[in-house]
Amino acid sequence: TGAAPALEVTGLTYSYPDGHRALRGIDLRVAPGERVAVLGPNGAGKTTMTLHLNGVLRAEAGRIAVGGLEVADGNLKEIRRRVGLVFQDPDDQLFMPTVREDVAFGPANFGLRGAELADRVHAALDAVGMAGHADRSPLHLSGGQRKRVALATVLACRPEILVLDEPSSNLEPVARRELAEVLVDLGGTMLMVTHDLPYALQLCPRSVLIDDGTVVADGPTAELLADTDLLARHRLEL
Ligand code: ATP
Repeated sequence: TGAAPALEVTGLTYSYPDGHRALRGIDLRVAPGERVAVLGPNGAGKTTMTLHLNGVLRAEAGRIAVGGLEVADGNLKEIRRRVGLVFQDPDDQLFMPTVREDVAFGPANFGLRGAELADRVHAALDAVGMAGHADRSPLHLSGGQRKRVALATVLACRPEILVLDEPSSNLEPVARRELAEVLVDLGGTMLMVTHDLPYALQLCPRSVLIDDGTVVADGPTAELLADTDLLARHRLEL
């Protein structure tokens, strides 16, 4: 009974074509409205896991459900609407001449047109504090602004869960703080891969720690980060 989990990952296993076993049975459950940080050393499998959540990679074993809908070949369009993936490098999501066109691309692909599309684009840009920049080229924006526009391209599709890969990477302190405020104000369900432990502590009440393709800890972020032995064992530095 009760609402379906926003995200449920069970026994997720994946090997890259070269045979490298990157995921060895990931289990993770996220409730609606939760913000969860995904921590772990380099090569732990964090990015590989996020690429499964919207079907970019196909699991070798295990299952993923988003709001109760199973990730499966026949469901990928709806899964991609539900799961908003924000890549580490904003340039991977910005390729049009103007900010407006970049943000319109996703919702247009999902069938929005005319005033509805324009409203959706404006709302997404407004949510990231970039409404005044719609007619600019993404190439003329600062790194922090590009990160926020890349986020808007995903928000414009109204995802049910936002999955962010290293949101604070390569940002100066001011841009880092602006992004944190935007993310908190957005509300909603978020999964955030990060090496930035203070950022995780600030934004995510709960964290999961992944190492060598499995979840090795899952609990309140403050408790995980207070466990210096745990951090040392998994090569994490506060
Ligand atoms: P980081 O914190 O450095 O981003 P990560 O936790 O996101 O690391 P992944 O990028 O998911 O880790 O990588 C998990 C493992 O899979 C690593 O050992 C990596 O070398 C390997 N891997 C990643 N991409 C490929 C690929 N295309 N082919 C083969 N192995 C890969």
